[in-house]
Amino acid sequence: SSKTKRLHFLLIPMMEQGHMIPMVDLARLLVAHDALVTFATTPVNLNRIRPIIDQAAATSLPIRFVELRFPVVDIGLSEGCESIDLLPSVDLIFPFLNALSLLRDPLEAYLRIPDKAGWPKPACLISDNVHHWTVDVARSLNIPRLIFHGPSCFFLLCDLLVNRHRAELEAAMAATSDGFTRLQGLPHPIRVSKHDVITLSPSDPDKSKFMETIRVAEESADGVLVNSFMELEPWYFERYREEQSKPVWPVGPLSLYKEELDVKATRGKASSIDNKILFQWLDRQEVGSVVLVSFGSIIRNTMAQLYIELGHGLEASGRPFIWVVKKVVDKKVPRAEEWITKFEKRVEGRGMVIRGWAPQAVILGHVAVGGFVTHCGWNSILEAVATGVVMATWPHFYDQFLNERLVVEVLKSGVAVGIEPTDYLDVEKFNEAEVKVRREEVERVVDNLMGGGEAREERRKRARELGKQARAAMEEGGSSWKGLQDVINYVSEHQRKYQEANIS
Ligand code: UDP
Repeated sequence: SSKTKRLHFLLIPMMEQGHMIPMVDLARLLVAHDALVTFATTPVNLNRIRPIIDQAAATSLPIRFVELRFPVVDIGLSEGCESIDLLPSVDLIFPFLNALSLLRDPLEAYLRIPDKAGWPKPACLISDNVHHWTVDVARSLNIPRLIFHGPSCFFLLCDLLVNRHRAELEAAMAATSDGFTRLQGLPHPIRVSKHDVITLSPSDPDKSKFMETIRVAEESADGVLVNSFMELEPWYFERYREEQSKPVWPVGPLSLYKEELDVKATRGKASSIDNKILFQWLDRQEVGSVVLVSFGSIIRNTMAQLYIELGHGLEASGRPFIWVVKKVVDKKVPRAEEWITKFEKRVEGRGMVIRGWAPQAVILGHVAVGGFVTHCGWNSILEAVATGVVMATWPHFYDQFLNERLVVEVLKSGVAVGIEPTDYLDVEKFNEAEVKVRREEVERVVDNLMGGGEAREERRKRARELGKQARAAMEEGGSSWKGLQDVINYVSEHQRKYQEANIS
């Protein structure tokens, strides 16, 4: 169809890899549904997805990547601190979030430039909820503003309930010796901690003011896209929908969009390892034998002690593994880098260490991979679900403890390493946190995850079943495929009504 008739979506992701990646996937899916996409973000974030941008250009995909200058220096950050994982301290997260509205001017300046290629004006704006300022942009364009939600409905619902019952939860926690209580109103009362309550409903006035701003902006949104699928959490989807006065569309797992392996391997960033070597190694391993260990894009585990215990545990497990190691900047354990280099040599052949960025979603999709030790970021969990892989859950902060409960208690496709927020010295400062996990525990959990026996087979069967359902949801006619089609129909209908009203 001609470009002028196609729907044009304007996508504005939160600047953090866990939000950029699914939004890139969403852009690709929208285009596959015959839409046009403008993807707007800052220079550093665009640079990270350069391979995807180049590939889109080479294959003439109708996605425009637009650079928005983000004046980080004006808010006291150094040049280039344009993503949460690049902030030198967690204390800067809220100042960073508060500064997001500075993107409004450059975006509006871009939108004023007359289009030479004949693209219609955007028909819909989709942004993460933290971009509350996009309300005004969408309003001035007279287009719907949709929220893209990274996490599960399970988490969204917990968030809602924790905020609603904060006072009761705090009172209940104060009355127990271990500081935990149960969140009611769910089919299975979920254990919550002080950490869960504080992160979802912060008492700090600046933080709670910001949360309130995004809540108000979210209330005025026209609809919500969720990166999850109905079959994964049907009860929670229904219940979350009941709480909303607007449509809620399941569109995930977005990581399952169809693409060549090589391209998909670069969906977040160029890989730090030669993918050919990696896949040749994986091809040589037995089906379901390899354990992947990866803690996402933000956690650096500056406590090198943790790395050392993890390394020893993996080595002792005797199983093949891929371990993704981020930069180690720990002052307490000197020469941690050196230790990892030696470790790498020692385990050569049986274990592979990837320093930097790993093509995680495609590794999980390889038949040799059977288990995943994860920090429980939602994207990581969903990628494991989508590929039918069982998990050992090792949460660090924010939503990760609740995500763990979904995996272990509701989906029953994972086993908990057994970490509580109280195990960390200061869970709010996750990159400096110290956690007491010994190598024996790592070894034990890897055994539990990968070993034989009825209960473990059952867990694996369950994970494979979820993977099948995830793929079916994304196939043409599946629940999430329909979800995205409904988004498109909604926008198209809105545009038609608006045009009619303005002609008459
Ligand atoms: N990721 C990756 N390679 C890495 C680290 C992370 O591809 O070396 C991807 C991972 O597949 C997921 C995202 O980055 O899509 C991380 O998001 P998640 O929600 O799991 O955790 P976060 O990084 O936000 O803590």
